[in-house]
Amino acid sequence: MSRSAHPAGPRHADVYPEGHYTAPADDLNALDEKVWARTVRRNEEGVVSVGGREVTRLAEEFGTPAYFLDEADFRARCRAWADAFGTEADVFYAGKAFLSRAVVRWLKEEGLNLDVCSGGELSTALDAGMPAERIAFHGNNKSTEEIVRAVEAGVGRIVLDSFQEIVRVAHIAQERGRRQRVQIRVTVGVEAHTHEFIATAHEDQKFGIALAGGQAAEAVRRALKLDGIELIGIHSHIGSQIFDMAGFEVSARRVVQLLAEVRDEHGVELPEIDLGGGLGIAYTSEDDPREPHHIAKSLTEIVTRECEAAKLRTPRISVEPGRAIVGPTAFTLYEVGTVKPLEGLRTYVSVDGGMSDNIRTALYDAEYSVALVSRRSDAEPMLVRVVGKHCESGDILVRDAFLPADIAPGDLLAVPATGAYCRSMASNYNHACRPPVVAVKDGAARVIVRRETEEDLLRLDVG
Ligand SMILES: *Cc1c(COP(=O)(O)O)cnc(C)c1O
Repeated sequence: MSRSAHPAGPRHADVYPEGHYTAPADDLNALDEKVWARTVRRNEEGVVSVGGREVTRLAEEFGTPAYFLDEADFRARCRAWADAFGTEADVFYAGKAFLSRAVVRWLKEEGLNLDVCSGGELSTALDAGMPAERIAFHGNNKSTEEIVRAVEAGVGRIVLDSFQEIVRVAHIAQERGRRQRVQIRVTVGVEAHTHEFIATAHEDQKFGIALAGGQAAEAVRRALKLDGIELIGIHSHIGSQIFDMAGFEVSARRVVQLLAEVRDEHGVELPEIDLGGGLGIAYTSEDDPREPHHIAKSLTEIVTRECEAAKLRTPRISVEPGRAIVGPTAFTLYEVGTVKPLEGLRTYVSVDGGMSDNIRTALYDAEYSVALVSRRSDAEPMLVRVVGKHCESGDILVRDAFLPADIAPGDLLAVPATGAYCRSMASNYNHACRPPVVAVKDGAARVIVRRETEEDLLRLDVG
């Protein structure tokens, strides 16, 4: 699954330590289109641009660190997902990957639906004008207040995650004279990883209601009895950053099996099945994600085949990509502050951000690429670790990468594929001010989430 240590080649034989790196690319100035947003280019002088705007100018105007999001790419990815599934299925963007008012408007314009999993995400969605019926509400411990707001707003569905919640949502809806459309989230006993899936023992986690032991069947039994809710389907989400469709196949088969049991026991054919999100993207040149139309084709085929076998009408499918839509559309721009060569080990390159704007490397050993973007360099490749400015030795952005050996303070570096789970997981550690998100399109750049300021931090500090 992971990249193994490769000898870096004769040119770079000076004893590199063990690590998850491959030999450097032939030309470090080349930008692999797999990991960069669609409109990213490098010009003759070596300056990289996005949406027609050079990063050197963007850094002057907006400062660093900052996230730059390619709006045209975001919209194109929304359309690719919507077109791939056509009118036969629904695409819900998972808001937790990255949500802002602008994002909500783009989703609305491009015909996508939206998953939220907190009151905060719900209020952003509604404030920016997403019609409530196009919103799905998730979460394993929604508060009573959140459920009330979702029901009163008229969200299209609430995804129920526990026996308590079945009763809670039914009660809240009934009190208000409503019948809330719901799905039940089940755990199918499959946990999918990047390049593999494991089909045992993964009921041991907090989400959903297990199919095993008849738990999910019991949840359906209870839900069908309650007037305040209308059970419209079964939901399953098996993991994240998945490339292999095998996990989805097992998941779909097990969910369809539940639908057949429900039909046999209750004479009801539930009309919807949601297969969740989790589709992988390229963080490095090693990753090979599938195109939405391949994913749509194989998911639709799997569900159709399983339903035919079970003599069920094929339910309406929905999917919930988050990362696969927003992840590749943004990069984080940093300025190099210090360069510290450690003899026989590697060189540490410190930038002006870190784990406060991208926690993924520290949190789960995520792999990223990095490039020098403010100029061209034909210097030899040098093994580096790109680190932040926080008071933690685990404050690593890119664990192992090659940069030109003449990298120096003042250079701009960009880490691609940071659109998902970076700004949305950003923190104020060390009282860092969270970076802005700047949308760039057709030569125009505009801030969609502004940079946090020290006044913002002090405003919360009321002691
Ligand atoms: C996180 C999540 C998603 C989105 O996952 P991605 O890996 O971003 O595609 C979709 N559905 C549910 C229920 C989730 O929890």
